[in-house]
Amino acid sequence: MASNGSIFNAMLQEFDGAARLLGLEPGVWKVLTHPKRQIIVSCPVLMDNGEVEVFTGFRVQYNITLGPAKGGIRYHPDVSLDEVKALAAWMTWKCAIAGVPFGGGKGGVICDPTKMSRRELEALTRRYIAEIIDAIGPDKDVPAPDVNTNEQVMAWVMDTYSMHVGYTTTSVVTGKPIEMGGSLGRREATGRGVTIVTREAAKHLGLDMRTATVAVQGFGNVGSVSAELISRLGAKIVAVTDWKGGVYNAKGLDIEKLIAWTAAHKTVAGFPAAEALGAETIFDLDVDVCIPAALENQITMDNAPKIKAKIVVEGANGPMTPEAHQHLHQRGVLVIPDILANSGGVTASYFEWVQDRHGYFWDEADVNAKLEKKMETAFDMVLKTSLKYKTDMRTAAYVVAIGRVATVTKLRGMYA
Ligand code: NAD
Repeated sequence: MASNGSIFNAMLQEFDGAARLLGLEPGVWKVLTHPKRQIIVSCPVLMDNGEVEVFTGFRVQYNITLGPAKGGIRYHPDVSLDEVKALAAWMTWKCAIAGVPFGGGKGGVICDPTKMSRRELEALTRRYIAEIIDAIGPDKDVPAPDVNTNEQVMAWVMDTYSMHVGYTTTSVVTGKPIEMGGSLGRREATGRGVTIVTREAAKHLGLDMRTATVAVQGFGNVGSVSAELISRLGAKIVAVTDWKGGVYNAKGLDIEKLIAWTAAHKTVAGFPAAEALGAETIFDLDVDVCIPAALENQITMDNAPKIKAKIVVEGANGPMTPEAHQHLHQRGVLVIPDILANSGGVTASYFEWVQDRHGYFWDEADVNAKLEKKMETAFDMVLKTSLKYKTDMRTAAYVVAIGRVATVTKLRGMYA
C-alpha cells in the first residue's frame, strides 16, 4: 500500500501522478500537498467506573480553498493523525469532483466505542466538540458521521455547538436525524450514487444493466442500498458477502428479502434462498460488475488477477491497493474510483447543509433528482478527462479535482 506504511504518503503518490499529468505549477503543488490546519486535543471523560480517561482527538482541515471543510468524525482504536490527514485530503478531492462548494476535513478520536456506554460516548463527543469548537461552524468546518459515529452522535455535536454559541445551529453538522434538520435521501445517497456511476460506466462499455450480473462485498449502508437499487435496474445481484460469510444465487438474490434477513440475523450468512459462499471468494466470481463496499485494501495482488468483472466500482474508501489497481487497469478493467463512486454521500450532505441554512426542506424526489444530476455530471467530467489524458479513471478523477482546487488557489492568489 503506502510508502513507509503511511496512508498520507499513499495519497501523495496518487496526487503526484495526476499533478504531473496536469503540469501543476510547483508553488500550487506545494500548497495542495500540505494540510492547512491540524488540531490535536486531549479529551478527559469521567467514565462509568468513576475514573477519568483522557482520549486523544484530531481534526484536520486539509484545504478550504473551495469552501468550509467537510468530513466525518471517526471513533476507532487505530485512528492516527496520519490517517485523518489522508482522509481529509481525500475529502478535498471528493468535494471538488462532486462539484460542491466545500473543502476537505476529517476528525477522529482514538477510542473503542464497542467498550463504552452510551453515556460515556455522549460525554466524549461533547468534550471533543468543545475542544475543537473554535475551528468548526457552518462557514468553517462541517463534520459528519464516519466509522462508528451515527445520527445520534451528530445530534450531540449539533447540541454541543448550539449550547456554546447560544442558539440552535443545525448547519454545523450533517448526517443528523431527519427530525432535527437531517435531509431526506441522505441515508441512501452513497448507494444511490454508486448505482448511478455503475449505470453510466455500463453505458460507456455498452454493457446492458438489465442482463448484467453483479457481486457486492459488504452489506451495510453502502452495499445494501447499492445492491437494492442496482437490482431495480434489472441486473442480477448474484453474490453478497459480509464480515461473517456470503451467499450466492446464480438466478439473482432477492435483495429486499436479504435486507430483511440481515436486519434480523446481523449477517447475510444463512439466507435460505441461496448457496453459502466463502467471503474470500467474492472477487473470483464470473460476473460483469464487482462492488467492494466494505473495508480498505480488500483487492490486492492476491485476488486481483482472479477478477473477471469488466467494471469494479469502489463503494468503499480505498478498497484496492495501488498495485492491484495498476494490474486491473492494464487488463482493461474499468475501475470507478472511490472519490467519484461514493461521492453521493457528501453531495447529499451538501444538500442537507443548504436546506438547514435556508430553513426550507425538500422532498425526497427532489433530493434524488438533484443527486442524479450531480453524479452524472461528475462521472461525465471524469470519463472525458480519462479519455483526453489517455489515463485511468482514478488519475482522471484526481486531475479534475486538483485542477479545480488549483484554479481557485491561483485566482485567490497568495496572501502574504
Ligand atoms: P457499514 O458499517 O454500514 O457496512 C460495512 C459492511 O462491510 C458490513 O456489511 C460488514 O459486515 C461488511 N464487512 C466488514 N468486514 C468485512 C469483510 N472482512 N469482508 C466482507 N465484508 C465485510 O459501513 P458503510 O457505511 O456501508 O461503509 C462501507 C464503506 O463505504 C467504508 O469504506 C466507508 O468509508 C465507505 N463510505 C461510506 C459512506 C456512507 O455514506 N455510509 C460514504 C462514503 C464512503
